[in-house]
Amino acid sequence: MIHPIYNTPVTASMSQGIDEAHYVNDPERIIEELNTASESCPISKYIGEMEKWLRSQLLDLNRNVDRIFIHCTGTRTDARVSSIVNYWKNTLGWRHPGYHLILPLEGFTALQELNLPSNGVRGYNANSIHLCTIGGLDENGDFSDTRNNSQQQLLHAAVQIIHNHLPHADILGHNEVSNKACPCYDARKEFAYLNNRSN
Ligand SMILES: [Zn+2]
Repeated sequence: MIHPIYNTPVTASMSQGIDEAHYVNDPERIIEELNTASESCPISKYIGEMEKWLRSQLLDLNRNVDRIFIHCTGTRTDARVSSIVNYWKNTLGWRHPGYHLILPLEGFTALQELNLPSNGVRGYNANSIHLCTIGGLDENGDFSDTRNNSQQQLLHAAVQIIHNHLPHADILGHNEVSNKACPCYDARKEFAYLNNRSN
């Protein structure tokens, strides 16, 4: 089983030009930004590496996937991937990680092969891909859309790549099937531009 880790520590240059929450509820702007991202943009570098991983996984996909679930971790934005994974393994005793792909404030971490289930929503895991951004709690501990520009762009890129392979998979938020705040925004509305293309 592979668990590639691609996220790297934040550096000053990586944070330059990031306009926090500038693209919330404005997917058109995000797509435009993705299309015009230059080679020098560190976000585009992450998107390129993530795309490489996702495409190779999707080419080998041999299970039926009909849902792409969007999540947040329900933690502060500085929660570490390793702590989250330890919690699943050692506290909850989960065999599989909670998501296939997790997006910290910078970069991404692939946690599970797409051919294997992850533990995102009980009763839905066999036929789902789970994508998650770290965060969901603001500085007061209240549920909130805490995504930064990097998380928004990588999340939209990941969903677009998967959607291209699986155009009929429904894109939805965890809160649509469970009484939870996750992902702390209206994922159906935000990804309507993809859902409406195929349905
Ligand atoms: Zn969730």
